[in-house]
Amino acid sequence: MTRSPQRSWHAVTLLILLASLPALAQSKLEDRRNWVGKSTAVSDDPRRVPVAPGPRGPEGSIVLRGGRVFDGTGSAAKLATVVIERNRIVALLPPEATQWPANARVIDVAGKTVMPGLIDLHTHLTYTEPNTPEEQAEEGESATLRGAERLRVYAQSGITSVRDVASEGTAPFRLKQWVAENRLPGPRVFAAGQLITGTGGHGAEGMWRKSSHDQPVAAVREASGPDDWREAVREQFKRGADLIKLASHYSRAEVAAAVDEAHTLGLKVTVDAETFYIQWAVEAGADTIEHPLPRSDETIRLMARNGTASVPTLVPYIYIFDLAGGYFGSTSRRFDFSKEANMEMLRKLKRAGIKLGVGTDLVTDWFRYLPNAYITELKQFVAAGFTTEQALVAATRTSAEILGMDDKLGTLAVGKLADVIVVDGQPDRNLDDLSRVSLVVRDGHVILENGRVVIAPHVPVPEPDPRKTVPGKEW
Ligand SMILES: [Zn+2]
Repeated sequence: MTRSPQRSWHAVTLLILLASLPALAQSKLEDRRNWVGKSTAVSDDPRRVPVAPGPRGPEGSIVLRGGRVFDGTGSAAKLATVVIERNRIVALLPPEATQWPANARVIDVAGKTVMPGLIDLHTHLTYTEPNTPEEQAEEGESATLRGAERLRVYAQSGITSVRDVASEGTAPFRLKQWVAENRLPGPRVFAAGQLITGTGGHGAEGMWRKSSHDQPVAAVREASGPDDWREAVREQFKRGADLIKLASHYSRAEVAAAVDEAHTLGLKVTVDAETFYIQWAVEAGADTIEHPLPRSDETIRLMARNGTASVPTLVPYIYIFDLAGGYFGSTSRRFDFSKEANMEMLRKLKRAGIKLGVGTDLVTDWFRYLPNAYITELKQFVAAGFTTEQALVAATRTSAEILGMDDKLGTLAVGKLADVIVVDGQPDRNLDDLSRVSLVVRDGHVILENGRVVIAPHVPVPEPDPRKTVPGKEW
């Protein structure tokens, strides 16, 4: 990993510390998140920005009484009652217990399965559909509206967190903010902002593809040279990025500079790449590799050794092969691959012990295939050797780990954020039951009930009181 000279000021301190610490300690100390202690309240995202202390989430308690609780750790489902206060899980009680606040809202979920909300690590909330008029394709306003619609569909599918790995302009950050304020029904949004790629790289192929060179709200930021890759990372950080998304092509020096800059800012890096570009990204210290694209056995071994995770996203390629018979005209997809080769890659990654998370990469109008698209992705995990329960752990706990949010999300445990779903069935035994999500709680807010999305009701604010008129107030 390259080191920039401007950080040499604390080199002496570091050297002293490093003498007694394991090899990874240096990168840990240079990760800004690790300088925020447990005593400081921070934002509920990977940025870990200090925030004012105090209660968060809606007032009151919700009790999910007597369901089969699959807690996301991999242990078998067992009967229990989940108590939520504001936006946190405060108790997991034996099914016969009734110790909850007197004014709690009690929902009987007997016979149903209560589990952590699902996580989708690979979304593009704002990408165009085939019927999107050209003048709206990369317009921020239209992109935001497309995202708002999709958030609702993800919520209805039991997905309570999405990692958006490229969207137009500031749209994903506005969507994140409006969901966090419960002004839009949907999953939490963890956004990368723009995808960063080399000139003419993936996402910016051909003259017709817009990038930030010719359209500031484009979803792609072309960058050239290590300094510009660093600058592109900082631009996403400035917008509010929760992670950084890179795509091939790049030079070794470019990907190393971008990963170093992101890590120093406290952001994880995920990379959409193939062949030797994956090797270079893993050598640079990338946290995650997206997609099942070809790479050498040596690269897989290096991923295992470095703890590089993978989000295999088999389902979009299944759709590409089923709809069009292959991947044509793409200059960034110049290699042999097939549905079978993708599945074989997933098996190899699993055998190598690589951490695998769940992402669907539903571009164009494929979000309309939800919830089945998500279920199909989980079925690929089962086909690759996961048990049904292990596939659900990948969708919850492991995906929260890949997000860097496993201290707050991914399992049902006291103290975790209240992202909880109720499924009318036993998805830990039959994945198809995930098509029957009946209740979704995100951050303590009920956003889906009886299968229908709940929009927070308008609470009227009192009209102005003429006795409190302030003369001369300007508008
Ligand atoms: Zn994608």
